[in-house]
Amino acid sequence: MTIDHELIIVGGGPAGLTAGLYAARAKLDVVLLEKGATGGQVLNTDWVDNYPGFPDGLSGFDLADKMTAQAKRFELEIKQTPIIGMDLKHDIKTLHLEEGGTLTCKTLILATGARPNHIDIPGEAEFAARGVSYCATCDAPFYRGRTVAVIGGGNTAIQEAGHLTKFADKVYVIHRRDELRATKILQEKVFANNKIEFIWDTIPTAITGDNTGVTGIELKNVKTDTASKLAVEGVFVLIGIQPNNEMIPLDQLETENGFIITDKEMLTSVPGVFAAGDLISKNFRQIANAVGEATTACLSAEHYLAHLK
Ligand code: NAP
Repeated sequence: MTIDHELIIVGGGPAGLTAGLYAARAKLDVVLLEKGATGGQVLNTDWVDNYPGFPDGLSGFDLADKMTAQAKRFELEIKQTPIIGMDLKHDIKTLHLEEGGTLTCKTLILATGARPNHIDIPGEAEFAARGVSYCATCDAPFYRGRTVAVIGGGNTAIQEAGHLTKFADKVYVIHRRDELRATKILQEKVFANNKIEFIWDTIPTAITGDNTGVTGIELKNVKTDTASKLAVEGVFVLIGIQPNNEMIPLDQLETENGFIITDKEMLTSVPGVFAAGDLISKNFRQIANAVGEATTACLSAEHYLAHLK
């Protein structure tokens, strides 16, 4: 049987591109499959200030472009082809392409990432990256001395609300119930933080702004139906994320809430299948840790291939 590649990488965000860089530089027979443009969520990030090596920061687009160019310098083959399914049950892994046909490989790195849940209200898309953010760790320093709103009551929203108070003067937490989902220990910290004000039983109905970006948020109390408005310069939508796992056979490998479980070598529960980046089950999702995991995943795949021979 002819096997198409030693290694296939699925996903062309920072994790996939890093795995691709290492694999191509190690002269593995590798191809990276991406459904659209390379860069992943970074492409939707206005400005990146926390990726090492760029002391002045750079735009998400520039970072994606530089990562792609660096991988291509080592002749990484990147194919724009969506995957619609895969079979991981055998030693040789098979990927089903949307355009028809299959590709086979000895090792696979899954790096398809995740996407933040959107609140789907007027103004959200219009002001994305102009005051609407899905990552407080990334964007909090842009809100020094300002007033911002956090939507959500889970661990992410509550932890990030605390982080935001290091920069913002005032943080409103807007939650649709009168009780937080976040763990008690995180709750105790934010309840003691006098920069944070909770607005309970309330959902946002619109984000408003002008050519400077976000200027306010419109709200509705779900118990009383009362409408209100708040002047804010930033809205952090932190209501959970979804793994991009639609093409992955979740009955064939171990997952947690749809995120892939890996060990410290980035190996999944299936021999020869590794995963890295936002798709894996973990607490922190940053470009820098995705890149680190992808490095480990590629070196582990290389080690696995060496032991097959
Ligand atoms: P999450 O636990 O699913 O919480 C999502 C929050 O957003 C909930 O409070 C939910 O409200 C609210 N929400 C969802 N859809 C909404 C909508 N359409 N409108 C308004 N509010 C909405 O998500 P997460 O906080 O991102 O956490 C994801 C996972 O990572 C969790 O397992 C979490 O424990 C873990 N995590 C752990 C840590 C840590 O241990 N330090 C830190 C961050 C994340 P309801 O409560 O009413 O459903």
